Formats: sequence, C-alpha cells, structure tokens
Amino acid sequence: MQIEYKDNYEIRNHTSFKIGGEVERVYFPKNKEELVFLLTELDDYVLLGNCSNILFSSNGYKGNLILTTQMKNWKIEGTQVTADCGVKGPLLSKKVCEASLSGFEFMIGFPGSIGGEIYMNASCHGQAISDKLIRCSLFDKDTKTVIYKEKQEMEFEYRKSILQGGKYILLDAEFVLEKDNQADIEARINKNLSFRKDKQPNLVIPNAGSVFKNPENNSAGRLLDSIGAKNFEINGAKVWEKHANFVVNNNNATSEDVLELMVKMFTAVKNNYKIELAPEIIFIGDKTEKEENLCKILYQKMQK
Ligand SMILES: Cc1cc2nc3c(=O)[nH]c(=O)nc-3n(C[C@H](O)[C@H](O)[C@H](O)COP(=O)(O)OP(=O)(O)OC[C@H]3O[C@@H](n4cnc5c(N)ncnc54)[C@H](O)[C@@H]3O)c2cc1C
Repeated sequence: MQIEYKDNYEIRNHTSFKIGGEVERVYFPKNKEELVFLLTELDDYVLLGNCSNILFSSNGYKGNLILTTQMKNWKIEGTQVTADCGVKGPLLSKKVCEASLSGFEFMIGFPGSIGGEIYMNASCHGQAISDKLIRCSLFDKDTKTVIYKEKQEMEFEYRKSILQGGKYILLDAEFVLEKDNQADIEARINKNLSFRKDKQPNLVIPNAGSVFKNPENNSAGRLLDSIGAKNFEINGAKVWEKHANFVVNNNNATSEDVLELMVKMFTAVKNNYKIELAPEIIFIGDKTEKEENLCKILYQKMQK
C-alpha cells in the first residue's frame, strides 16, 4: 500500500503553537485502512491529530510521525454519527447542527480532532466528548489487531481516557446524539463562540489551549492569576494577558522558552500554595539537555 509521506518536514505550521522543528518522516494516511496498515508496518512512531494540545520540540524529531488530519470521513445516519479519528471537531459540530442533532455544541470553539479529543476527554461549556460516545474502534499496539471498546471500557475521567496508557490508537468513533431544534442548537453554538472571545485566545495568537489541568475543586487560571503570572514572559513566550492559564507564542518562541515559562508558572504556584499543577499540554519530539530537565520538573508526577 502506498501511503503519502514527506521527509525532513517542517512541522511548525501544523501546530496551533506555531512551534516545532524538522521531522524525519511524516505520514498522512487518508482512511482507516491506510492507518491500520501503517500501524502494523511501523515499529516506532508518534501519532498526532490536529496538534492543538502539544508543544512540539524546536529541535524536531528524528523518527516517524503519523498525522491523521487527512482522515476526514464522517457520516450521519439518523441520530448516529460515525467519524474517523482525524475529523475536526468544529466541522463536525456544524454538520450535526445542520442535521438538527445536539451534543457537539462544545466542539465549535477549539481545533481538536476526534482522536485528540477522545485521548484527552476534551470538554467545555458543560459537555464532554465522552458524553455521547457509544463505542470506538481501536488499534491494539501489542497484538497489532483492530478491536472495539464500548464507552464504559474507555476509562474516561476529567482530561483522561484509556488512550493515555499508550496501548491503543483510536481509529474511529461512534456517537448517538439527540434530536433538537436547529435554531436552538445554533444559538448554543453562537453563545459558546462569543463566550470564548474574551476568555480564550483564538488561533491568531498561537497557543495550545489551557497549559495546566484544573486541580480538584480549584482553578489553575485563578491560582496563576493570584500570583501575578499574567506578567510572566520568557523571550517570545508569554502568559496571555486576559487568562493566566494560557501561554501564547508572542514572537518566535522556541519549545525551550515555553517549557521555561511553564516551569516558572508551576514553581510560583507550588511555592505559594503547595499545589503541583499537572500540565495539560504534551511535549513531543527530541529534547535538549535543558528541556530534559525542565520536563522532569513538569511531568515527573504524571510519570509515576
Ligand atoms: C485555542 C484553543 C482552545 C482550546 N480549548 C479547549 C477546551 O475548551 N477544552 C479542551 O478539552 N481542550 C481545549 N483545547 C486543547 C485541544 O484542542 C484539545 O485537547 C483537543 O482535543 C486536542 O486534539 P488534537 O487533535 O489537536 O490532538 P493533538 O494535539 O494532535 O494530540 C494530543 C494527544 O492526543 C493523542 N492522539 C491524537 N489522536 C489520537 C488517536 N487517533 N489515537 C490515540 N491518541 C491520539 C496524541 O498522541 C497526543 O498525545 C484548546 C486548544 C486551543 C488551541
């Protein structure tokens, strides 16, 4: 099977942060069959969706990267919606609205793919991707077979799913939504969009969404704001002036600048509140020695 790929590929413009170096080889599968073929053939790879929840190393990555963004198949049959892992959330949100189906209004405001959203159990505005999920087809990396899991087997929690264990890749997912009045769905979509205007940076200012997860019964944004994080910046990386849990790439920031800034935010909250924030943003690619040390501080607790 011939699958599109590019060598020595600059990844930066694929990422919402607009940060990232050269990748040795990037594959662009177009459908489930091509993706399964690749996952079966390759022994070592990193797989990403729309690169909106990651910080890609400015040093790039010597290895295989699979990007699912060309996997665009989706269908609506009655209230049932099936989508490939690469389908973009905002597109699906609009398509199900046109079919008078409710449940994906939250997806309109952020640029995730279905695979990335299920990996993170993405949520906002009181809705989560897991709410309407029925089952998924997954590639099991150990047995190199395609298996199916029902929603209750996906181990969903806040910003958590079974995919984070590293054993499975999501191929596609099936949801059942609710019939509703199209104008009402549209109104909720518009409300979500206008809520975001002041509360979150749009992609004109490159960023990767919330930097840290909310600690239990607390808000990472409020903790960071209270210690003056909105004034923090390191070279081209800066905490967004309107919300302290966002880092923006203000001026050609490198992955090292962002990591350093994240450590500064993490340390300030730890020193003031004895709370260790857990990063929501995932670091991908080859690290310098300094980045290795910064990642140890940020991600040490999550690795245990
Ligand atoms: C402006 C902005 C606003 C945002 N707002 C929100 C928000 O309100 N709520 C929220 O939850 N998130 C938000 N995010 C973060 C992000 O968009 C979501 O986490 C999204 O789900 C990530 O999807 P992605 O396709 O970009 O994943 P990527 O960044 O490409 O990947 C993230 C992780 O998912 C894994 N992954 C991707 N596809 C698959 C697959 N098929 N199988 C297995 N693993 C896979 C990757 O390996 C990686 O570890 C926001 C981001 C931005 C830039």
